[in-house]
Amino acid sequence: MLYDSIPVVMYHHVSTVGSELNVHPQVFEEQLRALSVKGWKTLSGDEFLFFIEHRKERPKKCVLLTFDDGFADNYVYAYPLLKKFHMKAVLFAAVDFVEDRDIKRDSFVPLPHNDAWKLALTERRSEVMCTWKELREMDGSRVFDVQSHGMSHRTPEYMKRRKYEELKRDLSGGKSALEERLSKKIVHLAWPQGHYDGEGIEIAYEVGYKALYTTERGANTVDNLSMIKRLPVKGRNAKWLLGKLPIYSSVLLTRIYLALRTGR
Ligand SMILES: [Zn+2]
Repeated sequence: MLYDSIPVVMYHHVSTVGSELNVHPQVFEEQLRALSVKGWKTLSGDEFLFFIEHRKERPKKCVLLTFDDGFADNYVYAYPLLKKFHMKAVLFAAVDFVEDRDIKRDSFVPLPHNDAWKLALTERRSEVMCTWKELREMDGSRVFDVQSHGMSHRTPEYMKRRKYEELKRDLSGGKSALEERLSKKIVHLAWPQGHYDGEGIEIAYEVGYKALYTTERGANTVDNLSMIKRLPVKGRNAKWLLGKLPIYSSVLLTRIYLALRTGR
């Protein structure tokens, strides 16, 4: 059956410097134009949850665009382009890297993924990460729906070392900080580095999340909200993206495609 799954797409950076996790602004613009021309509707987190639960009311071609980490290039490059095409996306921010600063982005210097993370771990983090002011602006515009990526981006370590109390503090701290700063309910969580385990899922639900996002490929129905699958774009072009969306809109086609892809 076609259109029984909602594809979720994963981005990190939209910027002019090349790195594996980056999409050039021109390419991003082509992707948004193609989505628009082909009639794909982009969703907010709430709409994603609503449409995944109410299939009959769902437009056939809908897609959830997501951005991980909260890099400032999302504000500088992705935000104006989404606005231009009247599109929406979810941005997963890790709150320990978000500061109360008023930064001018006129002379913004984009950095490749690893260099951006290195700087994010220093006092200069606001040069590469969105500030609270920017998150509030983007969330308030309804272009970006800001949701949670935890606090410290260290949740994989907590799970590997079975420090579940720390995990709980991190997941609930990220949620409450965003709720307080953005005056809204936060129920979407993207696992940092895509790492999670069974206990982690239980804790995430316990602290109030309803939709948990992985970095694995696959189809999405109401049955896998605890393990939402995503398609990483990794710099690929509009033609590639538009070719994949119809596949990931179907549970059966996704299954066949992934079986062929992995040679199973
Ligand atoms: Zn991340």
